[in-house]
Formats: sequence, structure tokens, C-alpha cells
Amino acid sequence: MATRSVVVKVGTTSVTDATGGVDHSVLATLANDVVGLMREGWEVVVVTSGAITAGWAEVGAGRGRPHDAVTLQAVSAVGQPLLMSAWRDAFAREGVAVGQVLLAPLDFSNRGQYLHARSTLAALKSLGVVPIVNENDAVADAEIRFGDNDRIAALVANLVAASHLVLLTDTEGLFTADPRLDPNATLIEEVQAFDATLLALAGSSTSGVGSGGMASKLAAAHMATWSGVTTVIAPARALSPLSASLAETSGFGTTFRPRPERLSARKAWIAFAVASTGTVSINQGALQALEHHGRSLLRVGVTGHAGAFEDGDAVDVLGPRGEVVAKGLVRVGADSFDDGDDVVIHRDDLVLLRRL
Ligand code: GLU
Repeated sequence: MATRSVVVKVGTTSVTDATGGVDHSVLATLANDVVGLMREGWEVVVVTSGAITAGWAEVGAGRGRPHDAVTLQAVSAVGQPLLMSAWRDAFAREGVAVGQVLLAPLDFSNRGQYLHARSTLAALKSLGVVPIVNENDAVADAEIRFGDNDRIAALVANLVAASHLVLLTDTEGLFTADPRLDPNATLIEEVQAFDATLLALAGSSTSGVGSGGMASKLAAAHMATWSGVTTVIAPARALSPLSASLAETSGFGTTFRPRPERLSARKAWIAFAVASTGTVSINQGALQALEHHGRSLLRVGVTGHAGAFEDGDAVDVLGPRGEVVAKGLVRVGADSFDDGDDVVIHRDDLVLLRRL
């Protein structure tokens, strides 16, 4: 059996109170829950939101939350130490130390940094320290900032090869309809597989703070199911919400089953963590060779390319009708496309997206 390892993400509305300050009682409950699981042999990584909201409670003087990215990023620098200090206190009461790990999109897309982050998380684990992760909002490029920790949590789950991802939030889980609008909406306790209907169920966030909403939770769960990770969306303000999620307590949260044919960690990284810097268009014959025969993409099947991609970059592969059919790492840069290797994308570096 795989190691019992869980990444638990707690949303902004769950770690802060009505004033925007850190809600110490929620952190105390969670730290107790996490440490209880660690004593049972679980490895736990916490992903926390709330830096921006806590920071604005500190310096905003009661004014409305700002909207421009630069101010929000600056405010996160105020809130992040407040958040960490609260997590530190909560875990200290349980006799466990915490370590802060701030990650930006580039840490996921650059494979060297990605593997380095993995080593750091592994080293924290061997020290018995609970990693507390957030996006490095203060310095991450505003244009490419993830902006929601659901996605980061799913990427971290892939990074540490977690068996479970638990997204703790301010709703009970995924419902058949928006429960605020439809009194007949019921909790979906288990999702075996993603389909178009399920993705359409995702509403948009209306909470005002926190940037995730159900859509980004479903995207995170989708990503996780492809990495072999069981995902649970559950309410944070509950008795031992993490243990209850992992125990699949009846009536508590929504559990998403992983797919039987999981992507390798590397392919999941290509599919979900790396941003494409260009496109390569292919003909019908090449599409057949990729999708039905598991072949590499050869230059002979390429009908065009766009973007300033370099050797090793990720590109979207477009089928004959211009639809995205795959994503992969090119073995040739755009500048030298016609003189490079015959293999444009090796099959080991190629993910067929129409199967996702
Ligand atoms: N990283 C943001 C913060 O700590 C939260 C992003 C999110 O809402 O998921 O404030």
C-alpha cells in the first residue's frame, strides 16, 4: 500500500474570521487533527490561504479590500508572517514544529526547482516538521500568479506523491445544484469519474474573499485524480475535518476517486504544472500515430508551429481542426525547427489530453 500521505488545503474564509484576522480556533482544531493523524502514521502537508485577508485586516484600517494586483501582493507580505505565526502557535501547543514553504508557478514549471522543492519537503518530513505551504504572492509575477491555492495544493499532492488531497472550505462539499439557490440540492458524496456535466456544476466563487470557488476546487480534484490522488472537498469548520474526510465519514464532504490508469508523476507535471510557450499543428496521420499507436511526434507529421518555444519547452499540440489534442516537451526550438531532430516530441514527454 502506498504511504498514507495527505495534502490538506484550508481556504481563506476558513482560516480568517469576520474581521479578516486569523481565526485561531480553526487553526487549533486543525493542528490537533493533523497531529493526531501523524501519530497514526500519516504524512501531512498543509497548504494555507489567508495571507492577503489577514494582511489587509492589519493595514487596511477598515477600508474595503483593494483590487490591484501590486497592492494585494504587498498586503500578502504583511499577512504571511501573521498567518505563519498563528500556525506555529497552533502546532506548538501540540508539540510539533512547522516550516514555511512559499512556492511560485516557476517552482513547478522548472523541473529542477520542482525536484528541489520535493527534496526540501522530504527533508522537513524527516525532521518531523509540518510544512505549511502558500503561494509566494509577494514576489510571484502578477501575470502568471496562480492566485488560488487549490491548484497549488493539487500540484503539491503530485509533487509529494500524496495518496489524498483534502480541500477544506466553507461549503459542505459538491452539491447537485447551488444549495443557496435550490432547496432540493443534495450533497454528492462520491464522484467516480469526471464528465462534462460535473465540470458544468462548478459555480463561481461569491464569497468575496478567497479566490478559489468550486470551479477551481473541481479543477484541482480533476488534476489530482490523474495523479492517482483521492480528493475530498469538505467543510473546514467541523469536528476533526481532516480525519473525517480521510475516514470517508458518511454525509461528510465529497470524495473523488482517482483514475485507475494514472499518469506518471512526470506526465502529470507536463499536463498540469508547465505552461505552454507555443503550439505545434499536426496532420491526421500523426494524430492517429499518437492516439492509437502511442508513437512519438515526428517532424513529417507537423504542418506548422507558432510561438517562440525553445528546446525542452512545453507546447500545445493542435489537431487538424485546430483543437488541442496533446501537450508535450519539444526536442527542437522554434528557431531551428526545420534543421532539428526528426523527433519533435518524444512519446515519454507527450500527454494525450483528449483522454483527460
Ligand atoms: N495565496 C493567497 C493568500 O494567502 C490565497 C489564494 C487563495 O485564495 O486560494 O492570501
